[in-house]
Amino acid sequence: MVRYVYDFADGGRDMADLLGGKGANLAEMTRLGLPVPPGFTVTTEACRAFLATGVEPPGLGREISQHLSALERAAGRRLGRPDDPLLLSVRSGGRFSMPGMMETILDIGLNDACVLGLAKASGDQRFAWDSYRRLIQMFGGTVMGLDGSLFEGVMSDLKRSRGVANDLDLNATDLAELVEAYKDLVRREAGEHFPQSPEEQLHRAVNAVFESWRSERARLYRRREHISDALGTAVTVQTMVFGNLGPDSGSGVAFTRDPATGRPGLYGDYLANAQGEDVVAGIRNTVPLTALKELDTTSYARLCDHLRALEAHYRDLCDIEFTIERGRLWMLQTRVGKRTAEAAFTIAAELTDEDLITPDEGLARVSGHGLARLMFPRFDTSAVGEALVHGLPASPGAAVGAVVFDSAEAVRRADAGEHVILVRQETTPDDLPGMVAAQAVLTSRGGKTSHAAVVARGMGKVCVCGAEELALEAGAHRFTVGDTIIEEGTVISVDGSDGTVYLGAAPMVDSAVMRYFETGTRSAGLVDAVARAMEKADDVRRLEVRANADTPEDAARARRFGAQGVGLCRTEHMFLGERRKLVEAMILARNEAEREEALRALLPLQRQDFTGILQAMDGLPVTIRLIDPPLHEFLPDRTDLAVRVATAEAQGTASDPHDAELLDAVNRMHEENPMLGLRGVRLGLVVPGLVAMQVRAIAEAVVERTRAGGSPKAEIMVPLVGAVEELRIERTEVERVLTEVSKESGITVHCPVGTMIELPRAALTAGRIAQEAEFFSFGTNDLTQTTWGFSRDDVEAAFFSAYLDKGIFTTSPFETIDIAGVGRLVQIAVAEGRAARPGLKIGVCGEHGGDPDSVHFFHTAGLDYVSCSPFRVPIARLEAGRAALPETERSDSR
Ligand code: PEP
Ligand code: MG
Repeated sequence: MVRYVYDFADGGRDMADLLGGKGANLAEMTRLGLPVPPGFTVTTEACRAFLATGVEPPGLGREISQHLSALERAAGRRLGRPDDPLLLSVRSGGRFSMPGMMETILDIGLNDACVLGLAKASGDQRFAWDSYRRLIQMFGGTVMGLDGSLFEGVMSDLKRSRGVANDLDLNATDLAELVEAYKDLVRREAGEHFPQSPEEQLHRAVNAVFESWRSERARLYRRREHISDALGTAVTVQTMVFGNLGPDSGSGVAFTRDPATGRPGLYGDYLANAQGEDVVAGIRNTVPLTALKELDTTSYARLCDHLRALEAHYRDLCDIEFTIERGRLWMLQTRVGKRTAEAAFTIAAELTDEDLITPDEGLARVSGHGLARLMFPRFDTSAVGEALVHGLPASPGAAVGAVVFDSAEAVRRADAGEHVILVRQETTPDDLPGMVAAQAVLTSRGGKTSHAAVVARGMGKVCVCGAEELALEAGAHRFTVGDTIIEEGTVISVDGSDGTVYLGAAPMVDSAVMRYFETGTRSAGLVDAVARAMEKADDVRRLEVRANADTPEDAARARRFGAQGVGLCRTEHMFLGERRKLVEAMILARNEAEREEALRALLPLQRQDFTGILQAMDGLPVTIRLIDPPLHEFLPDRTDLAVRVATAEAQGTASDPHDAELLDAVNRMHEENPMLGLRGVRLGLVVPGLVAMQVRAIAEAVVERTRAGGSPKAEIMVPLVGAVEELRIERTEVERVLTEVSKESGITVHCPVGTMIELPRAALTAGRIAQEAEFFSFGTNDLTQTTWGFSRDDVEAAFFSAYLDKGIFTTSPFETIDIAGVGRLVQIAVAEGRAARPGLKIGVCGEHGGDPDSVHFFHTAGLDYVSCSPFRVPIARLEAGRAALPETERSDSR
């Protein structure tokens, strides 16, 4: 029989799939002997069954009752017992943390009788009634689906009638009255009484948490974080402990290191006389953890011990939530903490130095996505003006945008292409769409562990929080800092690395990490940590990394960034600008002589390009691809031309004969689906002289570089081959020209001739194609287009968001390789190509070559190299290293 419920004492950290991260870690802490309030976890499997059928799976109710009885026995208190009731919290917790996205219900077990018992047992009437009203409010919102503002409205009315501003100024009698008003509200709005049965409360709360997995905001978060909708959430049911029982109570969050910078040393926030939710919500400003030392020395010392024990046990940065109930410390949650990219690299290096982890593990804990973030520019601190305001640096990076004050406006402006900064007093999960849309989030309240900070860090979004001098005027669409008024739409610059906000657009400079890649300048701290991760990756990786580069400058930069050659030089980019005219002349040529003339003019220009690239990559392979796109891409736009000609005719003036001639050519060459038309190898086969000119330019560049004492290693690549016959004919022509140039120059020019594999037919007949190809390079851009039947330019903007919504894919197949489809073709082509030609060199030069997840696939598929844009070369190197780590070392870098 399936088991749906696990006591904390029965689980462990390796059970996160089943118990969720929270449940698994609570179990782990329980096993470590830390003070965890007792409880049990309902599995993700139960959630999946509930979501699939809409009803609780059979047996779950009974299992919960059994575990509850055990809990009651251990606690010496019973749920619903009027004199000293056991109270429970019910929380969500999936495999991956989704901060604030799903529901929590506290104080389950209170009813009209138990509230009196709680008052007596705690000796605090006010606390008891406050707990009861919180339960009705949370239950009403989460389980019954009532609008939270209804409860807030009732509370505001009461405060007004009592003439007080703050919740804390309401006394026990006021709160008892509030409970009655809340119960009325529930009866009126939900059409039922607030349930007095604690068992019913528990049962419905568990189901509501299951349901909250499907909420709009939870789905949005998962889509962004690439978390599968199929996982479901676990539910932890735990004995309540109270941080709001007076000044000797409180709640806090703590990290074993600084999650923003990675610097060692305990770090966190504490709020006296408060429940845990108050800390994370950023409702009141917290004090730093060190202040707890003064307030409660014993609890502080214990907390420090527990934090150290947890970091040593998990061998990683941990974050925890804790509560102190009348001087007694309780651990409510722990997990391996989220961190910024900067902290990830720094912590990996430090934990390696501390011998807590191996260098392999250190590499596993950083990621290409993180590295990409560190390569972005930062503000030029020597050129920025005076700061407008300072807050806490909660998530690093530099962002410039127009100020907006609500989530909807952020989304509206961002959709219109504007960069925006979302400014809020504090954020709530409802602000998620605005946070996604904004470049940065700025709040006036809350610490580094507030909702805004946690969510922004998870997204890699810039965040400054707790900028207390910033006064938001509700509804006025502006904020003030002293005498300065900032209206909506004003451009500001937010530096998430040091917490400074500037008025206007601050100038940017390269990041230190980028400078390191450009110049090799190494400095202590982050740059050193990055350099060490790169060295380790280079040490262990099997995949080579090349770059896609079409100019000597790009090739040189790629080499500085560690590229081991050029995997794709797109020659058509050399026909743009001024040279477009020469291509035009070739297309319009009326006879052989005119065509040769045009090609002759192009030859030295191409030769010069190749010479420069071969020089920049001297000694390393440079794969030059023969022209790929349809020739009409080099002619003027058809509609523009037609309008010009028609306008001239309508005005009775003779149209420019050149325009008419061009229009004629454009019409002749027009294609409905150019992507599937006369391009790639097909061009070479039907346009006389074009390939010969390109090959001659390559061969002559090789001769020039050889004569100059260099070591040019050009490779010639034929695009869009679908049949071996195409390649055979093209290759004969290539070799004819290579022999010709060798004879003329007296220098033997040998260039391996290979092909791109970018059509399904090429992949499926790779064994045959390999007979003619000395190397393969997967063009996964075209291979994705032709495998899915997607025209990238047409489909991405048109309906990919709907496909992502519907879960047809979790990432665009143009970003991360579609392993099941396109990946399978890759695997077939690798196997059959190598069977026909053992040792066949195989790479990839589509954009997937620089995508972290895809790099792992290419490693596993047995490719020799990946090729990507120069800026992604370090990312590919790092991920190629991570991919080569033994399975056991690999960690989830999410
Ligand atoms: C490809 O198709 O993946 C490729 C590299 O070629 P292009 O993007 O130039 O079509
Ligand atoms: Mg292509």
